[in-house]
Amino acid sequence: MTTLQLGEIAIDRVVEMEKAPFVLPEFFHEATPEAVAPYRAWLEPDAIDPVTGAMLLTVQSYLVRTRHHTILIDTCVGCRKSYDGIPAWQDRRDETWLRNLAAAGVAPEAIDYVFCTHLHLDHAGWNTRLIDGRWVPTFPNAKYIFARDEVAAAAELGHLDFQENVQPVLDAKQAVLVDTDYALDDQVWLEPTLGHTAGHVAVHLKSGASHGVVTGDLIHSPLQLVQPDWSPHFDYDIVQSRATRRRFLDAHCETDTRIMTIHFPLPSIGHVVRDRDVYGFSYV
Ligand SMILES: [Zn+2]
Repeated sequence: MTTLQLGEIAIDRVVEMEKAPFVLPEFFHEATPEAVAPYRAWLEPDAIDPVTGAMLLTVQSYLVRTRHHTILIDTCVGCRKSYDGIPAWQDRRDETWLRNLAAAGVAPEAIDYVFCTHLHLDHAGWNTRLIDGRWVPTFPNAKYIFARDEVAAAAELGHLDFQENVQPVLDAKQAVLVDTDYALDDQVWLEPTLGHTAGHVAVHLKSGASHGVVTGDLIHSPLQLVQPDWSPHFDYDIVQSRATRRRFLDAHCETDTRIMTIHFPLPSIGHVVRDRDVYGFSYV
C-alpha cells in the first residue's frame, strides 16, 4: 500500500486530480504544436492528451511518515475556493482528496506538520476548510511550515488565495515562518528553489542512505526534461526558474535520489537520467 519506502520513512501519494488538462502554449509560450511534435509519441497518452494535444497534470500531496512525525507536503486545491484563474479549481465540492487521505490511514487531526513548497492554490488549498462560513485550518493539531519570503510575497500580491489559504493559519497561530533552508531535523529539510515563486522551496527527505526530494513546481511536466529552459509564463521570474531547474536536474542526474514530482503523470516519482544533452526520467 505504501507508495515508497525511504529507509525508515514511509511515503504515500494523496491524489486530488489526475490528467487535468492545460493548453500547452498558454502554459509555456515556446510550446507551439510544431515545437512539441517531436516529443508527443514519448509523452502520450499520460502527459499529453493524444486527441486534444493538452498537457495533462496530476494534482497531489505527499504523506510522509517518519519515526517521529506525520507530515503532509503540499495540500492540493481544496473545496469552495474563490480562485477563478482555472475554472476546474473554483468552488470545488469534490472531497475525494480527504477520502484518499483517510484511505492512507490518516485523519486530519493526526497531521503533525504541513509543508507547502509554495502558496499557489494547488499546493495550499486544503490548508483550510470552510466551516460555518469561516475558513479554518483543516489540520487542527499541525504546525504549518511556510517559507517567510513566500508568505511575504503572497501577502503583497493580496489575492483572495492568501485570505482563504494562509491568513486563517496565521490567525490560528499554527504557522511557523522559516528560512528557505530550514531543517525540521536530520531527515526533513528545505532547499531554496526560487523562480516559480519568490520563496519556493523543495523538501528533502533522507533516512540512512535513502534520499528523496519533493520538487514542488520547479518542474511541471516531463516535457521540461527535454526542454529544461521552458518556464511557465506565469512564473515569478522565468530566468531564475530556468537556472533553478537546470541546477536541480544536474545535481540529481544519474544519482540514487528519488525525485518526487507533484504534477508528473502517476507514479510521478523517479530518477533523473542523462539523455544525450538533455534529461530523461526513469519512473520507480
Ligand atoms: Zn502547481
